[in-house]
Amino acid sequence: MTKPVSKRTSGSVAMDDYLEQILHLIEEKGYARAVDISSNLGISQASVTNMLRKLDGEGLVKHEKYRGTVLTEDGRRIARAIVERHETLTRFLRLFGLEEETIYRDVEGMEHHVSRPTLEVIRAVADALEGDAGFLAEVKRRIELVGTV
Ligand code: ZN
Repeated sequence: MTKPVSKRTSGSVAMDDYLEQILHLIEEKGYARAVDISSNLGISQASVTNMLRKLDGEGLVKHEKYRGTVLTEDGRRIARAIVERHETLTRFLRLFGLEEETIYRDVEGMEHHVSRPTLEVIRAVADALEGDAGFLAEVKRRIELVGTV
């Protein structure tokens, strides 16, 4: 899939992971290098190089000599939406006292499949629960089985 479908929140799974990682690296270090992307994602440098070429072809990143990979304006916009989506899902799941590792693993899976309308529902529910401690406690009371799994 090369063209993003409007109802989806992203392109392909792999592309999302790369853009997310590239944005994190740029925010952390000012640039993204193939070697860092490779070690953060646990993917071979050859695969990283291939994907960077593909992202370049789609106009989402560009390679600058001595600097590494940077995001284009389009790339940055998409990467921000991906990171925001990750944060919304994390914020939602954190409300229920789940383990951080479980939350991270689930978010990494969910974020690739959630549609924009569903993400919007989750954001609204998270907002409502954050503003109503009594209701949040009631919801948590109903999910006590979670702790035993
Ligand atoms: Zn993520």
